This record gives sequence, structure tokens and C-alpha cells, in this order.
Amino acid sequence: EWLTKEDYESFHTKQHKIVLGPCGEIDPENIDDYLNMNGYKAARKAITQMSQDDVIKKVIMSGLRGRGGSGFLTGKKWEICKAQKETPKYIICNVGEVNRPLAEGNPHAIIEGLLIGGYAIGAQKGYIYIRERYHLSVERLRNAISQARDKGFIGKNIFDSDFNFDIEFSFGTEAFICGEETALMESIEGKRAMPRFRPPFPAQKGLWGKPTVINNAETLSNIPIIIGKGAKWFASIGTEESKGTKVFTLSGKVKNIGLVEIPMGMSLRDIVYGIGGGIAGNKALKAVQVGGPSGGLIPLSMIDMGLDYESLAKVGSIVGSGGMVVFDEDDCIVSVTKFFIEFLQRESCGKCTPCRIGTKRMLELLTKITDGRGEDSDLITLERLSSLMTSSSLCGLGRTAPNPFITSLSHFRDEYIAHIRDKKCPAGVCTALITF
Ligand code: SF4
Repeated sequence: EWLTKEDYESFHTKQHKIVLGPCGEIDPENIDDYLNMNGYKAARKAITQMSQDDVIKKVIMSGLRGRGGSGFLTGKKWEICKAQKETPKYIICNVGEVNRPLAEGNPHAIIEGLLIGGYAIGAQKGYIYIRERYHLSVERLRNAISQARDKGFIGKNIFDSDFNFDIEFSFGTEAFICGEETALMESIEGKRAMPRFRPPFPAQKGLWGKPTVINNAETLSNIPIIIGKGAKWFASIGTEESKGTKVFTLSGKVKNIGLVEIPMGMSLRDIVYGIGGGIAGNKALKAVQVGGPSGGLIPLSMIDMGLDYESLAKVGSIVGSGGMVVFDEDDCIVSVTKFFIEFLQRESCGKCTPCRIGTKRMLELLTKITDGRGEDSDLITLERLSSLMTSSSLCGLGRTAPNPFITSLSHFRDEYIAHIRDKKCPAGVCTALITF
């Protein structure tokens, strides 16, 4: 179905595009297009006019937080890594699913961010970690690196300074766990991608046991903008504690789907009804899952909440890598929860018991409920499992895996009760509970 002119305009004009701004506007295969929009000026300024500490201070002042996971302050991470005595140091750019349009549409911004990050922490080597099947992203990044090298922006004595920096690709597998920092490093080292115990943290002891910073492509794309436009300018966007913008993948039962960039703190209502144009087919909104598979389900009654790190944490959700799925009245919340747990159970690496066994038991119990065999005590068992997994899993995957269940039970307990006691699926989705 084609978008109306009105839908198209509200989809684009209501966003606040900073990192996505140049995507579609410049030729990503031509470095001159990037140079014409002041490309590599920030890197030149950082490397030739600023000390490493000045760069780090600026990034801290901007308030930029990691766009791929827990939202740790990027500048702080750099500061910890720079303070380590051990060398060599490494910086890794993780290009995840949601970052593909950035890699395809403006690859030089990622390269420039990586270059500035490398300079700030004292690394001479950067890695781009990406799935090989993201062919166009790989091709555009490879082309961008080669063009930047030809111009002398990568290699030896960059901008006639004594700073040397080079970039190498490392190709990851399809596993979801490869997005976890320490599992990602294991993967680059050629081992099975399983998270490591922390501490030590990667900034202290990371790749090959050396101090390492891992940032995702969206985080790094913000760096040239911060150095160029200033930390104050960047910090003027967003909320008190969550600065800048965030890219989300708006999908599900909304009219306009696609990649959207919003200022931190924008309300869910403005995203779903403004940018998204409302619910398709004039159905009623039921819930929005924010933060990917391990995010929380936010009900219609909370539609006016702002999306930022703090507000999402308060409702049991996460910013994560920026997944956002809209559900309407025809969706069964118990089935939706089961779907997410099933995904997480499949993706659990199996290293620790709470997550390996916990996700399996959760899936079994949710299947029992959607099959019409549920008992009241199953909800108590699910709650106990959730609490145990949250407090004792080794990495973020296991600790956040119960989020869809915890939030859906808190806001849609009546749907669970209907499945368990009345043996009915209110949305008519669970086929085992439909009487013909
Ligand atoms: Fe692996 Fe899950 Fe344990 Fe993380 S929490 S280490 S994904 S088993």
C-alpha cells in the first residue's frame, strides 16, 4: 500500500535526523560528497588541535551514551580505556542490524567516528565487526575505508601528525549473542561467541587481553557531529540524562513503518500516531514493545511516556538496539510474549544455567498456557524464574530475557487469567483455545 503525501510528510518531518540526515542525500560511494558536508573536518580538528583528553572531555560533556546496549557514557568508557597502561589498545565498531542504513547511507561518518575514538584512547587499530551477509554495508564500508586511505585519513601520520591508525574487518555469525561486547571479542579472536565474566571490563582487558573500546555504529556516527558542532549543541537535544537522538526500527501494526530517528524523550504517542501515522486499519493500539526481543511491553495507558534510558528502565524496558514493534487489538499478548521468549531461548548461548534452563522452562510454561493447559501456579513459577534469571544470569541476554513476561503480566494479567481459568484467548489467536 502506497503512503499518502500526508503520511509521507508526517513520517519524515516529525523526526529529528542527525545521524540519518545525510542518508539518501549524499552519494555514499563518493568521499567528495562527504567532504562537501565538512566530512573529516572533525577528525582533523581532533587529531591536530586537540589532546586525547580534550576529545574525551568533549564526548563526556555531550552526554552521549552507548546506542547499542546498556547506555554507558561513551566518553567515560574512552576515559577508562585511555587510562590503562597496557598496549596495544583496540577500538571496535559493531555494525548491527539496525545500523545497516547508516553503513549503507553514510559510511564515512562511521569511519570518522572510529578514527576519532582510536585517537582518543590511543589505539592504532580499529575493527569493524559485521555480519558478512550485510553485503551492501560491507561493500560501502570497504569502499569508504579505501577512499579515506587514499586521502591519507587512514594509515600512517594522519593529517601530518604522528598518529597512525588502520581498520580491519571481522565477520560475525548470525548469533544474537554476538552483539554482547565480550562475546563479540571472543568471536573476533576466532572462538565460540560466549560472554566472559566481568570484571575485568573490556576497557581494561578486552580483545587479546588488551584494553578495548566497543562502540556501535550509531554511537560512532554521532562523534564527528559532537566534535564539529560542539558538546553543548548535542546536549541541547534530548532530556536531562539522555542526550541526543536515537534510531528506532518502527514496525508492526503501524501505518508508516521504517527506520526513524527521534530526539531522546519523544513520547510514544508522537512516535506511533505522529511519525507512524497511527494504527493500520483503524484498529485500537494494545501495546508497544520497545528495545528488541528483551524489551518491555508498554500498554496503551502509558502512551504519553517519553522514550529515554531512564523512563524505559522505570517501566521494565530498555532502549537496547532500538527495536520497536506496535501491537493492536488483534494481537494476543501471551502469544507475543511466548514469541519473544522462544527467540531468546534459541539465542541463549548456554554458558550459564539460569539463562540456559530458565528460558527453556519459561517457554514450556508459556506454551502450556497458550495451549489451554495452564494453571494458576504457572504464573508464580514464571515470576520466580524471572526473578532468578534477572539476578543471576551472566550477561544482559539472560538478565533481560524475562522483561517481556514481567511487563506483560503487570499490564495484561487479565489476558493470562483468561487463558488459564476461562481457557479462552481474548484476541482469538491461540488456536488450541478456539472452539469451532
Ligand atoms: Fe549465555 Fe544466556 Fe548466560 Fe548470557 S545469560 S552467558 S546468553 S547463557
